[in-house]
Amino acid sequence: MPLTFNYPTSKESLLAGYASLPRALSFYSLSIALIAAAFFLHESLERLLGDQAAYLLFAVPAVIVAGGLGGLGPALLTTGLGIFVGMFFSGEDYSLTLGQFVSIGAFITLGAGMGVLGDRLKQARSAFAASAELLRLREAHLTSILDTIPDAMIVIDDRKLIRSFSSAAERLFGYSQTEVLAQNVNKLMPPADRENHDSQLRHYMATGERLIPRNGHPATGQRKDGSTFPIELFLGEMKTDDQRLFTGFVRDLTERHKSEARMQELQTELFHVSRLAALGEMASTLAHEVNQPLTVVTNYLKGARRLLENHPDERLADLREALNKAADQTLRAGEIVRHLREFVTRGTTERRVESIRGLIEEASALAFVGVEKKNVQLKVQLDSSVNFALVDKIQIQQVLLNLIRNAIEAMADSPLRELIVSSAPCEDNMVAISIADSGPGIAADVASRLFQAFFTTKPYGTGIGLSICRTIIESHGGKISVRARPEGGAIFCFTLHAAMRSEPDDGE
Ligand code: ADP
Repeated sequence: MPLTFNYPTSKESLLAGYASLPRALSFYSLSIALIAAAFFLHESLERLLGDQAAYLLFAVPAVIVAGGLGGLGPALLTTGLGIFVGMFFSGEDYSLTLGQFVSIGAFITLGAGMGVLGDRLKQARSAFAASAELLRLREAHLTSILDTIPDAMIVIDDRKLIRSFSSAAERLFGYSQTEVLAQNVNKLMPPADRENHDSQLRHYMATGERLIPRNGHPATGQRKDGSTFPIELFLGEMKTDDQRLFTGFVRDLTERHKSEARMQELQTELFHVSRLAALGEMASTLAHEVNQPLTVVTNYLKGARRLLENHPDERLADLREALNKAADQTLRAGEIVRHLREFVTRGTTERRVESIRGLIEEASALAFVGVEKKNVQLKVQLDSSVNFALVDKIQIQQVLLNLIRNAIEAMADSPLRELIVSSAPCEDNMVAISIADSGPGIAADVASRLFQAFFTTKPYGTGIGLSICRTIIESHGGKISVRARPEGGAIFCFTLHAAMRSEPDDGE
């Protein structure tokens, strides 16, 4: 549906013009003043001119002025007053000879003519004022529309000089209107595109053939600070008798490009995650396979220990002790394998209310597999006011595992190896979980790229750990960030929705 807007018609404006009664009255007062002026002028010049200047001649300009400004009414009043003053006050002899009669007749005709002419003039003036007002209204309306639309609008002439630059254009390009008006539009594009644009316009002016499509032409814009950004151009053209104007609507594509890149990044991540999932399946099978011999070994060890139990030999006591330790370690290995299976076997992805302590303890047990525990000091500091979170357990354990593993690896060469996992309530009913280490910390130049896929500083790193962590945390409605630890080292922190134990779980 076309957009319509009712502007006041010129007739309405005209009526509004006529409505001013005080104005009309002032024209009648003007008539009287003009006749009085004509009378006094004639009186003061009479001695000089003698009979050569008839009074009515002096009243003629008064009639012209009154008619021109006030229209028919004031013109007739001035004519009447002129004759009246002439006959009774000017001292002239108006004895109504034929000559006098003709002069008065001519004077009346002049007055009436001037009145009609003045009326026309007045109407024309009002019509002109009304259309100027209409034009001003339309322009104000158009400007308000252009100020509101998010696309920038730039009008250039056939010499590529900028003739109009909307507020959105000012925001987009960083120039104010005064800085670019009458400047070449080349200023708004990178140097590499300028020559091309010149030749395209020259070609169009010479042949009328468009090289740039009217709608949605992709291009590059350049801001005042020299930075460039992707844009989409929509072009329009206007021809008047003596000039040709081109209107360009410019749409900033930066955000669209960013989200496309993010989509692509996510797809790549997914591809890698699916490979990891396949690996997980293998690990799960392996864990299952390993678990069986481990159970058998535990049973043998327990049996051997029982066989030695009642034997009095001193040395056998040591052997019993060794068997005890071996059985304990086998049990521990079995426990780790059980966790590993749970971790890699992706069941449902439902979110449940999980104990934060449980999540951290299980994930750190896995993370410490193969690490000499006494080398790293692990401290868990949990805030007792938030004990539960609504999470997909396996996914959040994967995040914790990645972060703890990274922290352990980062501290490999540090004299002090301190790992602190803590929790604290934060705004919007969230809980923040932090993993702090005493490693070298994050170099300033890598901090911004840390969460990008495939960014790694390790010779055999994959660089996808942190990017997966970000995907998981964001899908849980939380945020993940890193900051420097004041005492040295890094603190990775992520937020989750806190929960009460009694909250209904998904799927339960
Ligand atoms: P990867 O560990 O495979 O390299 P990640 O995405 O897990 O991939 O980590 C990316 C990079 O972030 C690492 O290569 C490392 O440079 C840096 N990093 C991660 N955690 C820490 C940490 N605790 N201290 C210092 N640097 C870290």
